[in-house]
Amino acid sequence: MTDIIDGKAIAAVLREKVAVEVASLRDDHDLVPGLAVVLVGEDPASQVYVRNKGKQTVACGMQSFEHKLAPTTSEAELLQLVHQLNSDPAVHGILVQLPLPDQIDTHAVINAIDPAKDVDGFHLSNVGLLATGTPRLVPCTPLGCMILLQQTMEDLSGKQAVVVGRSNIVGKPMASLLLAAHCTVTIAHSRTQDLPGVCRNADILIAAVGRSQMITGDWVKPGAVVIDVGINRIDAQEGKTRLVGDVDFDSVSKVAGAVTPVPGGVGPMTIACLLRNTVQAACSASSLPFSM
Ligand code: NDP
Repeated sequence: MTDIIDGKAIAAVLREKVAVEVASLRDDHDLVPGLAVVLVGEDPASQVYVRNKGKQTVACGMQSFEHKLAPTTSEAELLQLVHQLNSDPAVHGILVQLPLPDQIDTHAVINAIDPAKDVDGFHLSNVGLLATGTPRLVPCTPLGCMILLQQTMEDLSGKQAVVVGRSNIVGKPMASLLLAAHCTVTIAHSRTQDLPGVCRNADILIAAVGRSQMITGDWVKPGAVVIDVGINRIDAQEGKTRLVGDVDFDSVSKVAGAVTPVPGGVGPMTIACLLRNTVQAACSASSLPFSM
């Protein structure tokens, strides 16, 4: 029987832990963690993400600061806001929603965020710390995938892990985390030869490609754990659309030992990990211990 990994339920448990930690920080230390989310432009998907992040931040007892800027905002204006948030003691975490409009250099903005408030874990110094095995703030989606894996498998050590996708926000940090958990890691991408054969070696297969239902059951080793990061909108019946992953769930769920669904797998974990990272940043700013 294939185990369907319930990301929604695991994320709910993590959010509950965050809420308990937030309550004790407030009661014992008079500290209320604050998360600032900056949205530039009117991309509908980004608007939904930002709204959800704000709601869940407040639901966990934290402060939410939303900054919505016009699509024509200049890089200088956005940098000015980032500097203001860097020096605001009520703000412990800063997230600039990506993608940014073309007139803005994404790297310049991410690297202007105070690394201690970089709850997305994209600042070069946080990337370097993760790559050198001393992680501080870790990117939320790969962190969420690791929590799902740890809840599904007894021991990751020595397992063959294949990550399909090498982006800075998912594939590369995912590979670093799996390596730190003592997996033998292969990173595959668009130039990889015999991708199905590479995937068939995997005890742990992470799909972070952005191509709907690309990974089918015949690419999967029987019993493997498959984590589907992809979020793709495809046409469904009667002019409607629906969300699917990078994994063909129907065929893969007949072969894998465990698989995440889309929706309801990795997606809910990403926001839960953002809340967790915000608490971590708040504890660190006040030199308080953090373990979650
Ligand atoms: P990117 O587009 O930045 O990276 C995609 C990667 O997939 C690239 O490394 C690319 O290779 C590789 N790739 C593309 N086509 C193929 C192919 N045919 N065969 C093998 N590899 C291929 O995407 P992201 O990493 O940002 O996101 C990946 C997916 O995850 C998307 O669906 C995105 O929506 C989703 N996502 C979901 C999140 C969540 O919370 N669940 C959060 C973030 C992303 P190359 O480098 O050679 O071009």
